[in-house]
Amino acid sequence: MIKILDRYFELSYPQEVIQEKVKAIAARLNEDYQDKNPVMVCILNGAFMFAADLVRELTFQPEVLFAKFSSYEGMTTTGKVRELIGVNANIQARDVIVVEDIVDTGTTMYNLLPQFFAKGAKTVKICTFLQKPECLTVPLKVDYCAMEIPNAFIVGYGLDYNGMGRNYRDIYTVVEE
Ligand code: IMP
Repeated sequence: MIKILDRYFELSYPQEVIQEKVKAIAARLNEDYQDKNPVMVCILNGAFMFAADLVRELTFQPEVLFAKFSSYEGMTTTGKVRELIGVNANIQARDVIVVEDIVDTGTTMYNLLPQFFAKGAKTVKICTFLQKPECLTVPLKVDYCAMEIPNAFIVGYGLDYNGMGRNYRDIYTVVEE
């Protein structure tokens, strides 16, 4: 059990499990993108750790970019997506892989995808480490998902609770009071 700010969290997915899942999803990408040169867009902040592990397992050569949007405050989604850092590279006619930490309601990804197509991307695929399938509120197609998890608030492996907890190698679930 760990304590972050005012809440307790218990271990759910240890680093060994996480690393196995990263390798499995990298293997799928390696098959689908061999001989291709896609643009991988790491969505900050949450996906930084997943993206760092993922790109080191790839056997093709991606271009790695970063973008930042905000939709979450505390433990609930606001439903709005605000661009904080945009993709300013030319992605015209490129294959894009959006690397995300978690798809929850799907609002963030659903609102982002048209922006990549508007910039001329040839293909846009979503690669998320986690998804909470029962929380999806929009018709979003998730192309690559390393692990499906139940609807509970988690931290660690890049994910935060009010800015804290991103540094853990393992993933923890909030203990409901
Ligand atoms: P969505 O737009 O509802 O799909 O939310 C996606 C974003 O919400 C993710 O990129 C995360 O930053 C954040 N998020 C969703 N669930 C959790 C969670 O359990 N812990 C921490 N952040 C979360």
